[in-house]
Amino acid sequence: MNASTLPSKPAAGRDCVFAAAGLKKEYDEGQVQALRGVDFQIMQGEFVAIIGPSGCGKTTLLQMLGALDLPSTGSLYYRNESVQDLKDAAGYRARQIAFVFQSFHLLPTFTALENVQMPMLETKLGRADREDRARRLLKSVGMEHRMNHFPAKLSGGERQRVAIARSLANNAPVLLADEPTGNLDSENAQLILELLVRLHREQSMTVVMVTHDLEIAQKASRIIAMKDGRIVSDSAKP
Ligand code: ADP
Ligand code: MG
Repeated sequence: MNASTLPSKPAAGRDCVFAAAGLKKEYDEGQVQALRGVDFQIMQGEFVAIIGPSGCGKTTLLQMLGALDLPSTGSLYYRNESVQDLKDAAGYRARQIAFVFQSFHLLPTFTALENVQMPMLETKLGRADREDRARRLLKSVGMEHRMNHFPAKLSGGERQRVAIARSLANNAPVLLADEPTGNLDSENAQLILELLVRLHREQSMTVVMVTHDLEIAQKASRIIAMKDGRIVSDSAKP
């Protein structure tokens, strides 16, 4: 069998975290083509920003990486596993992926400390260990003084800190962030960005961050620009 007849499994090497080939996603029976054939590899420890105008497919791409939705065609690998063929997509999301969203998605009737413990409820950790870990995570994002506050009593920047702490609860190696600074003023946006950069450095996390803010994107080590469901440029910093 020569190379051209091999199945479309990309040559995902030891350090390749995501490999996409010919990735397409249609909605509404093909009326919407959100991804029109996307190819890339993301390596262990990269900090990638995905930029592009509203509607170009950024969120859709992140949803594919996080196995929140399935591609229509093409292949997508996480390390050596086909994301489309995962038997336990929920387990993949829980163990491999930390998600951060623009609108935080905190549970309003639980305190910061309780929100951060939520992902740990599914694990073997006992109550005291869960709480202890949640305290340490909140401390690491500078929220030790707001542990018992409810989300409504926190500022946007503080809510995002709690959401980031929660996303780290299960020690996932990959962080996917969809417009994490989109609801924040520029000062808080900078603080959140610095926090993500620090996590990336200190914990060697692979980070894929969607943003439409070019200044925010500049902090990444690589910028993938999209337009109309395609990648139009992909450049790593020297
Ligand atoms: P971005 O995050 O870059 O703003 P999206 O990935 O959210 O873009 O959307 C890409 C395109 O797919 C848009 O045209 C959007 O309206 C469409 N789209 C996204 N999600 C859905 C859905 N669940 N059903 C139908 N169309 C969708
Ligand atoms: Mg989006």
